[in-house]
Amino acid sequence: MRSERHLATTIVRLAGEFDLTCAEPFEEELGRVMDGIFETTARMFGIEYRRLSDAPVWHSEVSAWEVVEQGRTLGRFFLDLFPREGKYKHAAQFTLASGVRGGALPEGALVCNFPRPGAEPALLDHGEVVTFFHEFGHLLHHLFGANTPWAGLSGVRTEWDFVEAPSQMLEEWCWDASVLQRFARHVETGEPIPADAVARMRAADEFGKGLRVRQQMFYAATSLAFHDRDPAGLDTTRLSAELQERYTPFRHVDGTYFQESFGHLEGYSAIYYTYMWSLVIAKDLFTVFRREGVLDPKPASRYRRAILEPGGSAKAADLVRSFLGRDYDFRAYEEWLNAG
Ligand SMILES: [Zn+2]
Repeated sequence: MRSERHLATTIVRLAGEFDLTCAEPFEEELGRVMDGIFETTARMFGIEYRRLSDAPVWHSEVSAWEVVEQGRTLGRFFLDLFPREGKYKHAAQFTLASGVRGGALPEGALVCNFPRPGAEPALLDHGEVVTFFHEFGHLLHHLFGANTPWAGLSGVRTEWDFVEAPSQMLEEWCWDASVLQRFARHVETGEPIPADAVARMRAADEFGKGLRVRQQMFYAATSLAFHDRDPAGLDTTRLSAELQERYTPFRHVDGTYFQESFGHLEGYSAIYYTYMWSLVIAKDLFTVFRREGVLDPKPASRYRRAILEPGGSAKAADLVRSFLGRDYDFRAYEEWLNAG
């Protein structure tokens, strides 16, 4: 899935203060964040990641991996992390093969554009770490979700207004000091990021939250409005301008054409609202981890069985109910909206 981060990016730059990688050679730079994601999710789900040295890849910078649980391979994935000429410019998880129970193994790829290690250390800012976790959330959904007899309902092939819930929920781990301290270290001293710095990052992230949400609702309204009427004679610039002024406090600037570069109009067509609606669900799902512990395998195991493994083989509302033990509601989202 494509990330929306290029549309609504919250970046807290840490390079220069506390970087999230280190200044060692290739494996030690961006690799520290990778290790952090691997180690965190391996601990949560009782799996391990193995590098595949002999798998064919489409570029020399792509690495191949497999996910193994108690000696059994669950799936494979590829990491294509650095920018290059002609490559996709954003960050996304792509399905290469859909897994089915007792049959084909799932295969996926993360295609991202993180700093390439070289003369300078490949430091990731916090926003990039969030993006990495987000896309990895899609990848785990894809890999774990192969427990259905139908490839068409495997993994992320779930209801589209639910598909961003597992990815957005995994972003929460990037805001937890106990998680970040396992891999985010000062570039020179190696000191883990102080909990106080994480608390200040969280406080800084509150700034402008209302505006970001309203901007998302403007995008959602635009994607729906462009698709629910007769296109003959539709003036998309005027409609976009009207919606911007209805949903955000900012006036439309004549001569600008936001909608011309709104890529999600193709990928998500009328349902860009999936991001904010999935966030409602993600905040609700995360209440369990907030209560029981983000690194505790018990809630993670229940989450995997109830939410990720069935893929799209059951209604998302039913999956959520089986995990929460109740219907989803807006309380956690509302609490997040009103915080700060
Ligand atoms: Zn996504």
